[in-house]
Amino acid sequence: MIGLACVVCDATYPADFAGYVCPRHGDEGILDVQYDYDQIGSTFTKESLAENHNHTMWRYGPLLPIASDSRVPPLTVGGTPMYNAPRLASIAGVSRVWVKDEGRQPTASLKDRASAIAVAKALDWGADVVTTASTGNAAAALAGMAASVDLDSVIFVPASAPEAKIAQLLAYGSTVVLVEGSYTDAFGLCMEAAAEYGWYNRNTGYNPYMTEGKKTAGLEILEDLGWEVPGAIFVSVGDGSIIGGVHKAVKDALALGWIDIAPRIFGIQAAGSDYLVQAFESGEDVLTKPAIAADTVADSISADLPRDRVKAMAAVTETGGAYLRVSDDEILAAIPQLARGSGVFAEPAGAASYAGLLAASKRGLVGAEDSVVVLATGSGLKDVASALQAVAAAGTEPIRVEPTLDALKAALGGEASSAQSDSGMRDAIR
Ligand SMILES: *Cc1c(COP(=O)(O)O)cnc(C)c1O
Ligand SMILES: [Zn+2]
Repeated sequence: MIGLACVVCDATYPADFAGYVCPRHGDEGILDVQYDYDQIGSTFTKESLAENHNHTMWRYGPLLPIASDSRVPPLTVGGTPMYNAPRLASIAGVSRVWVKDEGRQPTASLKDRASAIAVAKALDWGADVVTTASTGNAAAALAGMAASVDLDSVIFVPASAPEAKIAQLLAYGSTVVLVEGSYTDAFGLCMEAAAEYGWYNRNTGYNPYMTEGKKTAGLEILEDLGWEVPGAIFVSVGDGSIIGGVHKAVKDALALGWIDIAPRIFGIQAAGSDYLVQAFESGEDVLTKPAIAADTVADSISADLPRDRVKAMAAVTETGGAYLRVSDDEILAAIPQLARGSGVFAEPAGAASYAGLLAASKRGLVGAEDSVVVLATGSGLKDVASALQAVAAAGTEPIRVEPTLDALKAALGGEASSAQSDSGMRDAIR
């Protein structure tokens, strides 16, 4: 790492810069970490990577903003599996669908990649307390990573966050602040508190290092595909930090000469939280476009004003992708479809990327020649209420029986009652 550059004005700051954002641009002046690729590439190569048996995110150490001797959380972050899902490929009409399962992270979402960096940085800076606002997953990730190194965490989440996420925070021993308001309100309060108390601030779209952690998902995708560039990568987008991270991975790999063309990156937003889709369609400048009032079942991608919107827009426009919106119904329908078609059970925001693939396919943006990657960003167990809603909407119900074989036989399809006909039985067994 050689320094930081403001995404608004390009001003650069040294690697040991003690702030978070460009002082000239305040909270909008998000910084992008700069590297000396010539120097990195002289020793860090595709071949050296192939020989490295550390399959955590730290295998990309030379491309991360922390020193090689930094203390990092001991939890296994990264190295998540990517599955070939031919049934989903045939539904979507593409040559191949790869599903990358980020539900396999220690706290069950992709956010662990960023929070691991945050905790390493906090230790490096000698902070006693780390803090973040979050719709839930960044919070759980920070709480888990902090617990693993015995660091205190103070977490601000909207009081409406799904129970499982709040349970995680409390189990990890965080000080949990349930904010009576939206994520935007929680964010504002957390920013004020961090400044007031001097806590290490992990906030998304503020702390410049979070993108660097998230980019390891993109590096894994490219490496797992043998550096053969896929036709498209589908990413669900709230604040826009994950999609910015995937783009950063692509830019790193291009700069190192490991790939020679960027894959198209598609950003998927919920119709009720579609700030970036609106800006993409209208060409509005995201630095001046005002916030919207977000409302979606996919809490992890509910954002009134995507914090990392400059990087998020560049990820799509610079790779020839698109921003697409999907309805809450499409998102919910995607949960069982993804689970049945690949075995990966995702929360609403995690399945939204698959819903986005179907939307892109319908619009002819991907087709039979394309091999595509769907990033399933978080586990379905994060939001059981939405999963139950999704299976109910899909018409899948459990069979309730007395504990006898006769009762089971009767239920499985002796009689063709209204709900349980022949195909009903097949559905039931499924
Ligand atoms: C945070 C999150 C997203 C969106 O990431 P952004 O960086 O906010 O765009 C998507 N899915 C899940 C499961 C998340 O936790
Ligand atoms: Zn600036």
